[in-house]
Amino acid sequence: MGLQVKRIAIIGAGITGLAAAHRLGELAAQRETPVETVILERSDRMGGPLKTIRRDGFVMETGADSFLTDKPAAAELAKRLGLADELIPTRVQFRRTLVVHDGKLVEIPEGFSLLAPTHLEPVMESPLFSEQGKRRIALEPTIPRRTETGDESLASFVTRRLGQEVLERVAQPLAGGIYTADPARLSVAATMPRFVEMEKNAGSLIRGLQAAEQARGSQGPATSGARWSLFLSMRAGMGSLVDAVASRVAGSFRPRAEVSSISYRDRRWHLVLGDGGRIDADGVVCAAPAFAAARFLGAADTRLAQLLAKIAYASAATVNLTFREGDFPSPPRTFGFVVPIVEHRKIIAGSFSSLKFEDRAPAGSILVRAFVGGVLQNEMMALPDEEIVNAVRDEFRALLGVRAAPGVVAVQRWPDSMPQYEVGHLDRVGEIERAAARLPQFVLAGAAYRGVGIPDCVRSGEHAAQAILARLGEAA
Ligand SMILES: Cc1cc2nc3c(=O)[nH]c(=O)nc-3n(C[C@H](O)[C@H](O)[C@H](O)COP(=O)(O)OP(=O)(O)OC[C@H]3O[C@@H](n4cnc5c(N)ncnc54)[C@H](O)[C@@H]3O)c2cc1C
Repeated sequence: MGLQVKRIAIIGAGITGLAAAHRLGELAAQRETPVETVILERSDRMGGPLKTIRRDGFVMETGADSFLTDKPAAAELAKRLGLADELIPTRVQFRRTLVVHDGKLVEIPEGFSLLAPTHLEPVMESPLFSEQGKRRIALEPTIPRRTETGDESLASFVTRRLGQEVLERVAQPLAGGIYTADPARLSVAATMPRFVEMEKNAGSLIRGLQAAEQARGSQGPATSGARWSLFLSMRAGMGSLVDAVASRVAGSFRPRAEVSSISYRDRRWHLVLGDGGRIDADGVVCAAPAFAAARFLGAADTRLAQLLAKIAYASAATVNLTFREGDFPSPPRTFGFVVPIVEHRKIIAGSFSSLKFEDRAPAGSILVRAFVGGVLQNEMMALPDEEIVNAVRDEFRALLGVRAAPGVVAVQRWPDSMPQYEVGHLDRVGEIERAAARLPQFVLAGAAYRGVGIPDCVRSGEHAAQAILARLGEAA
């Protein structure tokens, strides 16, 4: 019969583009549809912020270090790649998070879940809140539901329900920190829908969290901060997930291939690269960041390009440092700490990576990692690497008494890497999706739209693969 081979160009080789390419291969094989995939990537490597450095027995994550399993797409992808035995949980005995308060490390009260407590007793005993702050938290179950519909900022949501202290001392560094965002601009509907639903359904976050706890049954050991039991990583680091996907993707990968414009003529997409190269394709999966897509889509659809350009991005950097256990006056026993912006320090979080996961450091050593930058401390990104490292060392000295010089030091910058889901984000994405759907054989995917986490990106890429095949089928 001689079925015609369809060429699909995937723009961007982050985890979204890779998941799309991998799923295209799976679906094409199942349906016996001949497909040729070309992945075009501006940089010289795949994976975006999934990048692991292995040095002197340390496994250092320079970007993402784990992923959530309540959305199953990433864990399922790892399993389909034969990596089930490589998935590792967080270490149970250290599942606690600290927060800097008045220059000291304080434990986040047991059962505090990102922006609200499950139980009041640990809050009442915590030095983190003032007496007035505690009384305000205790009122939460009596605060009426919001009557307005429409989106709201994280800051407005948290102060309305729990007061200013919870915003400044927990929600900003923990929940805002995930997005390296300004809570006064961050959309609660797009980033914390679970809590919005709790307010709607239970009339209270505390009651909603208690109901969720009861529904889960036995709690296991008490934890604070994120829901640590739901996180997984890869034994050899997140980079091994990228390597495994990349090894299974059929088709070609073109590094240093920046797409500079795309247009649709004569039932085909025509892509122009930054070096003047050209490539034609029957379909396009756009898995590049929204600001990049805005640039190369300008000629094909001005309105879509304008909408995409409205999604702002933040920059961040990580600094991995290795120490000996004896360098810490008292050995750390938690996953790490977050730093509220009101503390006016130079880092936004610090992790004890080798306490978070097994096999990250040789015996007798501790691997730590600091997060720097984000929307609220963007000025840090202007510093040279050496000054960033000095700032991180200053903070580890002040907060933990670590005076020793680190062994290995690895600074990694992630410019414009974190899409900002600002208030109104879901409406904006709806508009973007409607505009993109009008372009023939074209699908958008990636962290900019409906979730920044790795599982969201995998799901988005896999969904894009399915959608582009369906659209090519319709056009045939
Ligand atoms: C420092 C950091 C830590 C994080 N930690 C976690 C974590 O622990 N857990 C978690 O779940 N999530 C984490 N995230 C979020 C998550 O890692 C990202 O949202 C996700 O990896 C984004 O994947 P993506 O493929 O959508 O985008 P990207 O990885 O950004 O991929 C887009 C690709 O497109 C390429 N590109 C850009 N323009 C062009 C062009 N014109 N032509 C061709 N290619 C182009 C880029 O070079 C890039 O490789 C973290 C993010 C960062 C930055």
